[in-house]
Amino acid sequence: MQLVCPECKNDVDLSRYADLQKDHIIECQMCGMTLLVTAIENEVVEVEIVDEGK
Ligand SMILES: [Zn+2]
Repeated sequence: MQLVCPECKNDVDLSRYADLQKDHIIECQMCGMTLLVTAIENEVVEVEIVDEGK
């Protein structure tokens, strides 16, 4: 699977998320942004940025 961070545009390493599914929370290693998986389609992961309410 493949994911480009919507914040920093870097590829996110998904190797540590072996069982990634919709509605999972992941974190970009590059910018630290928290991301919610909204869809996984054709090996491409779609996410939205989670507002942590700071
Ligand atoms: Zn990022």
